[in-house]
Amino acid sequence: MIPLELTKALKDGNRYAVLIHISPDGDAIGSSLALAHTLISLGKKVDLFCQDTLPDSYEFLDGVKLFKRSLQPEDWYDTSVIVDCSDLERLGSLSVIIKSSAKSLNIDHHITNSYFADINYVDINAAATAEIIYEIISELAGTIGLSVAEALYTGILTDTGNFSFSNVTSRTHRITADLITRGVNPEKISILVYKNHSLNKIKLWGRAIDSLETDYAGKFAMITITSDMFENNSAKEFDVEGVVNFALDIKGVELAVLIREMITGGVKVSLRSKNFIDVSRLAAQFGGGGHKKAAGCIMKEGIEQSKAIIKTAVAKIMNNMKT
Ligand code: AMP
Ligand code: MN
Ligand code: MN
Repeated sequence: MIPLELTKALKDGNRYAVLIHISPDGDAIGSSLALAHTLISLGKKVDLFCQDTLPDSYEFLDGVKLFKRSLQPEDWYDTSVIVDCSDLERLGSLSVIIKSSAKSLNIDHHITNSYFADINYVDINAAATAEIIYEIISELAGTIGLSVAEALYTGILTDTGNFSFSNVTSRTHRITADLITRGVNPEKISILVYKNHSLNKIKLWGRAIDSLETDYAGKFAMITITSDMFENNSAKEFDVEGVVNFALDIKGVELAVLIREMITGGVKVSLRSKNFIDVSRLAAQFGGGGHKKAAGCIMKEGIEQSKAIIKTAVAKIMNNMKT
């Protein structure tokens, strides 16, 4: 059930800021666009924000050009809506919105959500925040036109790994069935999202796969991407989305890690589990978060030191795992 105070807050305001997390993914982008289109159709003034550049693969979504990178001093909102974001740090420089808007709303599905807003609606059973946004839009009696439907479909498609992860439920399929009824073409979206890579991206993926190391009788696999690899292949940071799955998809691997240098300094770690390990707890040890089977964190140490730290934490898990 959507809390009444949440729908009321989405009806009562006039000026809305809709914000998403750093390193934005399909769910964050699709959910925020769908909500923004709906609020606009209800007569609200809406601005969309993301600190980072959006990946090329989502360029086809209606409204992506509207995203702003930073808040201006003259910007003010009676309501800020933060979607698909587990904590304020994940907003990067945009976290000041909490202070500069009268009311903040947090709509999310991460198990590690820190309930940072005035009104928090966190449904950890939703496969994607886009599922929650679909239900909110239905309740608001907003129209689900093709732009909104495609945005929501893209959010669900990408957060479920093409409808393959453990988070997929009958609710997921009921919602996507309705979105298809409303005009979404699954093949078209699939081609735009998954079959539209730049050559540089595929070359980066090749280098990434070359770096694969395994341990614990093949139950652990790790990929390393250094900034040199980005530069040598003229690849962009967001080109790494999905690469961790090459490690996870190996037969017998239970825990996969992608560790990569960030342009802004520090290291980004992506963690994935196939069956038993709760990687959200592993990420939380380093100030990160996520879901049981997909989580991440950012480390300040250099790449080699970060790898050593992660490997020590992994050793504790793997040594405790029954064989
Ligand atoms: P990624 O590895 O970036 O694809 O992220 C996997 C999942 O973990 C997503 O649900 C992210 O929202 C979450 N996540 C990634 N990095 C962080 C972080 N630094 N803090 C909290 N959650 C994160
Ligand atoms: Mn996300
Ligand atoms: Mn999500």
